[in-house]
Amino acid sequence: MKKALAIDVGGTKIYNTVINENGEIISEIEKRHTPKTFAEIESLFKEIIKKYENEVDVIAFATCGAVNNTNDGILGSTGNIAKEYPTMNFKSLSSKRVFVENDANAAAWAEHILGASKGMPYSVMITLGTGVGGGIILDNKLYKGKNGAAGEMHFKMRTDKHRKCTCGAYDCFESYASGTGLKRTAEEMLNNKDVTTYDVIDGWKNGDAKMTAIHDKWQNDILEGLIGLANIFDPDVLVLSGSMAEFVDTEYLTEKVNSEIVTTPTKVVKAQTGNYSGMLGAALLALGVKD
Ligand SMILES: [Zn+2]
Repeated sequence: MKKALAIDVGGTKIYNTVINENGEIISEIEKRHTPKTFAEIESLFKEIIKKYENEVDVIAFATCGAVNNTNDGILGSTGNIAKEYPTMNFKSLSSKRVFVENDANAAAWAEHILGASKGMPYSVMITLGTGVGGGIILDNKLYKGKNGAAGEMHFKMRTDKHRKCTCGAYDCFESYASGTGLKRTAEEMLNNKDVTTYDVIDGWKNGDAKMTAIHDKWQNDILEGLIGLANIFDPDVLVLSGSMAEFVDTEYLTEKVNSEIVTTPTKVVKAQTGNYSGMLGAALLALGVKD
């Protein structure tokens, strides 16, 4: 059976493991802090690859940043990682084939093959974390757009330039639906800059009325985005992943989405493939595993 060395590259951590065509993790999962400089990141990649490349068929990266349609390079800037990172020549890192995909796209593929959207040709995955990521599967294929950058969840929630987004524009879905968005909703509703995402979640869990109102506002902002996505894509399912997905009520969201869309009924569900979904999806894509 074919195997991939999977490497997940985020702004703070880099993970790696070996994954087979069945999507089984078959070696230890190694975890390191993402080095600060481009040279250190490149030499860490070489070190990981040297250790495993003789036992695998392909090297599969799930990375922060949009990835081109030839799956070998990064388009544009990538946020909180060394600024030269997008110039990485991934192919030069190994004599074996090297395959690169965006982490959210890879995670959407893992859900499509192994998880919550398995057996469903049309799905949109929304990753709710510090920011918001997205991955779109149409007709059983990952939808990447003309150059590979599709699936960015930066569309407007309001038009009065209320909140600045990480992308530089105002009022994107990300700036409301993310964990950071929840904190900003809390800051506005409590008129307190020091409130944290944790304070809101903890208060909501304990039935505090103010924190519950903030949580519900955040969840309804997510709902507005899901309605738009369902209307645009008519998906079988909308999959919510990431650390903040734990705190939403998918039954409530499914009911509300279906009561407001002009397309056909859909479902809002939570992702099932866990913290290593990026590595799983990148490995399955690199190994050519389709449904
Ligand atoms: Zn934005």
